[in-house]
Amino acid sequence: MEFKSGFVTIIGRPNVGKSTLMNSIIGEKIAIMSDKPQTTRNRIQSIYNDDNNQIIFLDTPGIHKPKNKLGEYMVKVAKETLNEVDLVLFMVDESKKIGPGDKFILEYLEGIKTPVVVVVNKIDLLNPVDYKSVFEFYSSIDYVKEVVGISALNNRNVGDLMEIIKGYMEEGPMYYPDDMITDQPERAIVSEIIREKVLLYLRDEVPHGVNVQIESMKGRENKDLVDIEATIICEKNSHKGIIIGKQGRKLKGIGKSARQEIERLLGSKVYMELWVKVRPGWRDNEGMLKNYGYASKK
Ligand code: GDP
Ligand code: MG
Repeated sequence: MEFKSGFVTIIGRPNVGKSTLMNSIIGEKIAIMSDKPQTTRNRIQSIYNDDNNQIIFLDTPGIHKPKNKLGEYMVKVAKETLNEVDLVLFMVDESKKIGPGDKFILEYLEGIKTPVVVVVNKIDLLNPVDYKSVFEFYSSIDYVKEVVGISALNNRNVGDLMEIIKGYMEEGPMYYPDDMITDQPERAIVSEIIREKVLLYLRDEVPHGVNVQIESMKGRENKDLVDIEATIICEKNSHKGIIIGKQGRKLKGIGKSARQEIERLLGSKVYMELWVKVRPGWRDNEGMLKNYGYASKK
């Protein structure tokens, strides 16, 4: 069997269950902060791998009716992204009424070239009659290729949806190592924020020899809370003492101001644990440097 791969993006109003579906597909609770305002395009959200497929789920900037120039720009960028992927999943939920948010997205999708599959989520909350009318409404739209009902929360029909998605993938390469489930660009940014605070708090006391490794970063399910574990790595024991400070005061200050900035970035509460470790000569050691790289990691 030929190897297939491709890019998929999920759009839909907030709270329809996009993150829940991602978790259900990838099977791990990873931090997915896709509802937050974004400026970057084509960010990888997560990657699905099996023996014959690699499906890369991309984050698309939110699609809302633009209120200003920046909004217009974001909508334009989103449209370009939608045209570049292999499949667009438009997710709606059990609401029987098609609201203005959905209407806007529907009109918007009309102009794109990529196939659109509508995913009706939360069918556990719909009776068959209501489901039928939602199903018929979306089926009647000519650019909609298929309509699938699922319950992301209960993992119902998610397997069927995956088969449908795979049907839209084409013969292609494995773009990313198969043990990589997300590139978590947030990690790199978070690490930079912490490093910047360390440097700010230390002024020139510990010149350059500081790196920050994000040990883990996970969104708590259904909560606007992200747990972060990070290690500040320095070269000497004396540096460690300086970073921690008297009665741990400096480290606390670093942690607090980093946390506040990260909360603003992610738009959710952050619970952060910070450690300080000494790794003599880490800057000269290639293996260690790789470890601190942001590329492929689980
Ligand atoms: P997102 O904003 O589109 O990413 O939505 P979330 O994935 O954060 O889900 C929003 C809420 O809907 C959460 O409270 C989920 O637990 C809930 N939810 C998601 N999928 C389902 C489902 O299939 N059934 C039910 N009953 N609730 C769901
Ligand atoms: Mg979400």
